Amino acid sequence: MIRCNRCGLPETYETIEFDEKGICNICRQQEHKDIKISWSDRKTMLDNLVAEHRGKHDYDCLVPFSGGKDSTFTLYYLVKEYGLKPLVVQFNHGFMRPKLLANNERTFKRLGVDVISFTPNWKVVKRLMLEALIRKGDFCWHCHTGIFAYPMRLAIRYQVPLVFWGEPSSEYTAYYDYRDDAIEEVDETRFNRFVNLGITAEDMQGMIEKDSQLDPRDLIPYTYPPLRDLKQLRYRSVCLGSFIPWDVKRQSKLIMEELGWEGDEVEGMPPGLYPYEKIECAMQGVRDYIKFLKRGYSRVTQMTAIDIRANRMAKEEADRLIAEWEGRKPPSLALFLEYLNMTESDFNEIIRKLVVPPFDPDFEIIKWGPRTADFEHWYRERT
Ligand SMILES: [Zn+2]
Repeated sequence: MIRCNRCGLPETYETIEFDEKGICNICRQQEHKDIKISWSDRKTMLDNLVAEHRGKHDYDCLVPFSGGKDSTFTLYYLVKEYGLKPLVVQFNHGFMRPKLLANNERTFKRLGVDVISFTPNWKVVKRLMLEALIRKGDFCWHCHTGIFAYPMRLAIRYQVPLVFWGEPSSEYTAYYDYRDDAIEEVDETRFNRFVNLGITAEDMQGMIEKDSQLDPRDLIPYTYPPLRDLKQLRYRSVCLGSFIPWDVKRQSKLIMEELGWEGDEVEGMPPGLYPYEKIECAMQGVRDYIKFLKRGYSRVTQMTAIDIRANRMAKEEADRLIAEWEGRKPPSLALFLEYLNMTESDFNEIIRKLVVPPFDPDFEIIKWGPRTADFEHWYRERT
């Protein structure tokens, strides 16, 4: 496969393009972020946005919250830097890990915030996971759509027009480019562009309507609210990272020190190297494994690419980590197959149809990765 001469991302990476020097567009927009964006102007824009909304409603803003490093930092920053009164909204995707739950409790209590947590029907979640896996090889449709749609529904219900997300997508893909100099609006266009995998809740309804177990209302939490309601609210839905330069390592350190936020091990990742990354979900290992089977790379490639770009890691070290850690079977796969009531060969057959050429995977992987310490506490269908 062709790879970026600088960061090593392969040609199967979403939205990637290479220039005449063989450097990818993600690397190029990162240069722009560092050199050309006036972050002091952006900070003034944020000051103005906050001033427009402060004290006008029951809450100054709404913060969708997963408990990962980005949403935790976002909440911390808005409360500490601006003294805002936020409404925190948490969509529980069904796989929150013990350490994450403990982090969340500490964060909420130490910051002093109101929280609404919503957990959708597990039987519906499983049905949606199966359908999205078969159609797209991405079982996280319920999570992507729920996380982005549900808080917007609550913004309308509670009449909170200002919504703050964390990391802008320009950090890791080129759907929105730092070079466009526009603020990325987290709206329905963005939702349909890449959040929902090209499947709206209405589409999903059509796909599974023959399923007698489901009530059409089951899909409401995954449905983006009507545009007229959002317009009436005069909403702004933006990423904090569009206004301040996003620095994951620095921000993770800060929330660890200030909030007692703890990192965790994640399947398929070298222990201790990126303890703050993607600790939110017990099925992250399966997600990364599917990416490996479809596209020939996994999270180690993605994370080391970021470090190479920031001159924090040599290419040789990245290659060594990738060779050691990528392409091992995650222990969570056994639970995943149990949830969806399928065999591993059923699973492989589904993924085989979705492989992104020129990658040609080997489905005979037998090497298992290690279990994480909390593996025994993850939900089991049969106990
Ligand atoms: Zn690159």
